[in-house]
Amino acid sequence: MAMFRAAALARRAVLALAAAAGGAFPAAATQRSRAARGPVPLVFLDPGHGGKDPGAIGVSGTYEKHVAFAAARELQLQLLATGRYRVALSRGDDVFIPLEQRVAIAQAHGAALFISMHADALLDHAVRGASVYTLAEQASDAQTAALAQRENAADRFAGPEFRGTSPEVADILASLVRQETRAGSARMARQVVAELRPAVRLLQNPARHAAFVVLKSSDIPSVLVEMGFMSNPQDEAALRQADHRAVVASALRRAVDGFFGEPGAARLAG
Ligand code: ZN
Repeated sequence: MAMFRAAALARRAVLALAAAAGGAFPAAATQRSRAARGPVPLVFLDPGHGGKDPGAIGVSGTYEKHVAFAAARELQLQLLATGRYRVALSRGDDVFIPLEQRVAIAQAHGAALFISMHADALLDHAVRGASVYTLAEQASDAQTAALAQRENAADRFAGPEFRGTSPEVADILASLVRQETRAGSARMARQVVAELRPAVRLLQNPARHAAFVVLKSSDIPSVLVEMGFMSNPQDEAALRQADHRAVVASALRRAVDGFFGEPGAARLAG
């Protein structure tokens, strides 16, 4: 019962956040009337960073925020072309949105799946390849712990109103991540790896986990995809190419098909 009340409180907090976001982000406000989960699932794409937060900056000057947005737009087109999904983006152009607000917007839309898209930087410039991340309090490895720490620091660009309230909401959400949501996130991560493996170079042990704030939705299976690393010259050069981004997007589209049970996509147990 206490758990149920906590869930209701968290939901109210999320809706309040989303309402606060409505003024600044009309797309979220106008689409809220269609938020109920219908027969056509809503896939929520979250291109990382934006506006005053450039994300990682590649060795030849490419901004992660631009690569993430271009890849999300490509994936959006591919998903819509199937006619099997509705698709919403956390940002429609180059604007800054705090991390938990991205989660709140997805909640307000009634999203069935959350995919955050990135191309961050690592200290070791030799490391390259795509990888996928799910939420866990304990990081799978030191490299991922550092990655999550840098990623979560994106909110240093946010105003004080977000810095003041967000951690509390994040804690409530984290405590409510349900078993089925975790299982769904893990299943999606396996689909992403299975579809990316034959298509692009992967990081060693490509399925990893850490406490990424943007993955802390209590009821939406969520993954964060690093399409490659801006700190690696080959990855940066590849991600600048629309053709390469289309290959990544097709693999992710097949992973979404697999997640929702499309025959023909790779079917994975569990
Ligand atoms: Zn990033």
